[in-house]
Amino acid sequence: MGVALARTIKQMFLFNKSSGIKYLAKRAVEFLTRYAIRYHVPPRENKGPLFTFDDGPLPSTLGILDILDEYKEKAVFFLVAENVQKYPQIAAEIARRGHSIGSHGFRHINMKKLSLSEFSRQIKESFDIVEKTCKIKTRYFRPPFGQISLIQAIWLLMRGTIVFFWSCGVSQSGEIDFINPGIEKNKKLYLNKNPLIVLLHDYMQPDIIRAGLKKLK
Ligand SMILES: [Zn+2]
Repeated sequence: MGVALARTIKQMFLFNKSSGIKYLAKRAVEFLTRYAIRYHVPPRENKGPLFTFDDGPLPSTLGILDILDEYKEKAVFFLVAENVQKYPQIAAEIARRGHSIGSHGFRHINMKKLSLSEFSRQIKESFDIVEKTCKIKTRYFRPPFGQISLIQAIWLLMRGTIVFFWSCGVSQSGEIDFINPGIEKNKKLYLNKNPLIVLLHDYMQPDIIRAGLKKLK
């Protein structure tokens, strides 16, 4: 624990000051919630980054599954329940190919604005649809746009849900895109040393997905 803390503080200095403080605050939230809220640290003792795909399933998801096979990579797919209803076979195929699945809400809306009763209703319904269609159980959830309120977060934690945010994405030019731009100067050093949760989308061009996988693996 002492070592982990020392390492976290050291990593903070890879950022500029205000970004470093934000980074430390997020790591503190991860630690204090026993990693039920995750910004940077993937669930398994990871030897590499965790790739996550949002907004599917879509017809383009099938191509992504082939790319992941090619790179021998297992990812997490955060599915929108409405899309699961539209493309149930594709949703089931993701699970069949050995990837993990989470909910990305019932509809792709900013859920932060919903009342707690409406929020909880949509969460339960989305998990239900995802679990029945994919024939799996999951505790993973990523809020659309990364937006939830504190009370919603607390409700999710009490329910035993693991809430995922992300460390970085991949831009349209295939570059690694940190949500926290303060890392830019020490990006290489940071990428070498740190666990990562990488945000990708099912609708992205295969070339961009490949470029991201290549850069981060
Ligand atoms: Zn999304």
